Amino acid sequence: MKATIAVLPGDGIGPEIIREAVKMLRVIESHFGHEFDLPEALFGAVAIDATGSPLPPATLALAERADAILFGAVGDPRYADPTLKVRPEQGILGLRKALGLYANLRPVTIHNAILDVSPLKAEYLQGVDIMVVRELTGGIYFGAKTRTADSASDLCTYSVMEVERVVRTAAKLARGRRRKLTSVDKANVMETSRLWREVTTRVMAAEFPDVALDHMYIDSAAMHLLRRPADFDVIVTENLFGDVLTDEAAMLPGSLGMLPSASLGTGTRGIYEPIHGSAPDIAGQGIANPYATILSAALLLRLSLGLETEALAVEAAVAAAITDGIRTADLRPKGRPASTTEAGAAVLERLHRSLRG
Ligand code: NAD
Repeated sequence: MKATIAVLPGDGIGPEIIREAVKMLRVIESHFGHEFDLPEALFGAVAIDATGSPLPPATLALAERADAILFGAVGDPRYADPTLKVRPEQGILGLRKALGLYANLRPVTIHNAILDVSPLKAEYLQGVDIMVVRELTGGIYFGAKTRTADSASDLCTYSVMEVERVVRTAAKLARGRRRKLTSVDKANVMETSRLWREVTTRVMAAEFPDVALDHMYIDSAAMHLLRRPADFDVIVTENLFGDVLTDEAAMLPGSLGMLPSASLGTGTRGIYEPIHGSAPDIAGQGIANPYATILSAALLLRLSLGLETEALAVEAAVAAAITDGIRTADLRPKGRPASTTEAGAAVLERLHRSLRG
């Protein structure tokens, strides 16, 4: 197949980890006879430095004509002050908004060979395979804000349509997995949560009777995610709860360097990125973990390009590298840590081997 994948390396470790994912895409391209166009564009602090904007018009135009976007990370200590008018992180919000991406998908699995890296005991982690779907463009983050000398307010609003579409995304994913959907809300207190629960119940009964639905309050979900994480399949929740829950879930494997993500809208175009940031503390040292970015590219192959066999091959190659003990510093290796390029090369080697075999 022919596809254009916009590549946005961004800041800090972004270019280092993206390089490894691009090498992997080239192997998939040549082995399966695809034709990938992989144009790069400026994004984040490097784009501010060059053009004054974190999302320059040329980058947006490229993203809009691409089939999918592979993104590293943005953020730079020089722009850390949250009161600054122009900040790298505005680029992500702007891009998601421009592309109408309202569902953020974060799969969380934990490879058996690195259970020791997690802060949780291994017995709780066996079999963890969770997909958290967070609503991305509504709720309290986007409602009207007020401020007086002695008070402040943030408005939380959801429309029926906003709930319906993200629930459908989550339910479709559940259908391809263990057919269990947990909807997380705070319906005992919040009106938006009561609407969320009503709409979810209706959509699931009418359109997804084959998927088991349960509702859980956010406080309870936060607890059960640590106590019995293996019981969850797909979780769907609103923006603020999802922000907190996805970071909590991200701690289950013990390193941010393992977790991919996808942001999707109604079509197949999406943004694929590791969940971690630009890690300025280790940028330029060649020691960042590239696995999350390579796994994000695998999600891209699956969800935007429909290349399931290719995605599975990449995921299996990462799993094989981990099984063989190839650990970057964040995965607390017993011996010398693998560098970013060594970890990337280990995946490529195993990918080549399995494709040849
Ligand atoms: P971070 O995720 O960049 O780093 C947190 C810690 O995890 C650091 O110690 C870092 O070294 C480590 N880490 C992260 N990714 C790693 C990897 N692949 N391999 C090994 N270690 C890794 O979060 P932060 O330090 O809070 O933020 C740094 C910058 O990133 C900030 O400017 C922030 O705004 C930005 N940020 C961007 C995104 C994004 O681009 N989507 C997401 C989160 C944070």
